Amino acid sequence: MLNLPIYLDNSATTACDKAVVEAMLPYFTQYFGNASSRSHVFGWQATAAVDAARQQVAGIINATVEEIIFTSGATEACNLALRGITEIYAGKGNHIITTKTEHKAVLDTCKQLHKKGADITYLNVLPDGRIDLNELKAAITPATILIAIMYANNETGVLMPVKEIGDIAHEKDVLFFCDATQAVGKIKVDVIHDNIDVLAFSGHKIYGPKGVGALYVRRKNPRVKLMAQITGGGQEKNLRSGTLNVPGIVGLGKACTICSQTMESEAARLAALRDKLETALLQLEATFLNSNPEHRLPQVTNISFKHLNSSKILSAINNVVAASSGSACTSGSLDPSYVLTAMGIKDGLAKAAVRFSLGRFTTAAEIDFCITEIQKKIMALRQEDPVWHMYKTGLLKE
Ligand SMILES: *Cc1c(COP(=O)(O)O)cnc(C)c1O
Repeated sequence: MLNLPIYLDNSATTACDKAVVEAMLPYFTQYFGNASSRSHVFGWQATAAVDAARQQVAGIINATVEEIIFTSGATEACNLALRGITEIYAGKGNHIITTKTEHKAVLDTCKQLHKKGADITYLNVLPDGRIDLNELKAAITPATILIAIMYANNETGVLMPVKEIGDIAHEKDVLFFCDATQAVGKIKVDVIHDNIDVLAFSGHKIYGPKGVGALYVRRKNPRVKLMAQITGGGQEKNLRSGTLNVPGIVGLGKACTICSQTMESEAARLAALRDKLETALLQLEATFLNSNPEHRLPQVTNISFKHLNSSKILSAINNVVAASSGSACTSGSLDPSYVLTAMGIKDGLAKAAVRFSLGRFTTAAEIDFCITEIQKKIMALRQEDPVWHMYKTGLLKE
């Protein structure tokens, strides 16, 4: 028997892996020390656990332990990167280049920085969701201090040409910050290979706990400087004060280790299941894939069901499948997704999009069940919809 509803919203958050919870538990009650306490064994135990986790976290992105700053999640890491760089490099320039399809953690922070005097360029994306590298090159000016572009989009799974962006940034002597929250743990991310200077990711998207994340800050070629945004006890090399969340950090470390070990086989398994689901749903009439089929994450699909409305579809299926219309942060909104709109998708289709994101605990039986159920529900919704009948009888041109 399947447990219903089936969870296909792993891009919003993932269940914590039981092995992660197991690893964390002793750090709540037995090894509860403050990692900043230097004078006794409680502090030493906590420090040892944090050191071990830092190694595990650094490993998954090919960084060194000195380059990892623990934060409360990706939102905080994005804020620290954008604000910290803008403030400390103010003498060099005030121009940031980003894209129209970033997560709100980046877009809203840029909006605020603009109010404080920063000059922001929002690059367009092509219909496949990726940027035009020539547009990026043309946007760079002597005042440009930072390029902030995500690794994988949270709504579509589209992968940006990250290595090419990193190469351009380094050639032009501009820093490259990458919000890799959707990519780390799912596909290989290598800050050296990709020429990334600063990178953010989060525990709860990779089967770790909520409330913990990390910022990678490059130490050489070049050495990146940041202005602290949270001041106090001077933890994390003075870049992020506050008593370390030891259980959370241990959980993030364990989550990274499990992902590193299983990434390759999981990517293949989930891509096969995702493709099966996607192919079946695209067999329905008037359905469209909102992605780049070649450059994308293995576990996500985003499909528009013409003449239907995302929220109607989701409420029709939510006792069998938990999915979403795009990002969790905007799922209450009636506006079309700004990500899909930037890809040139018209309002009608953008408002008819559903994102299905698979994960470590998704099974083949669940996907088979979802296929049957979603197909049935979509056909039933259309059957009772006068607009659909007009479309079918040719009364509607589009
Ligand atoms: C989830 C997500 C974030 C925010 O991460 P939190 O850890 O929840 O703050 C930022 N960027 C992207 C691309 C995300 O998917």
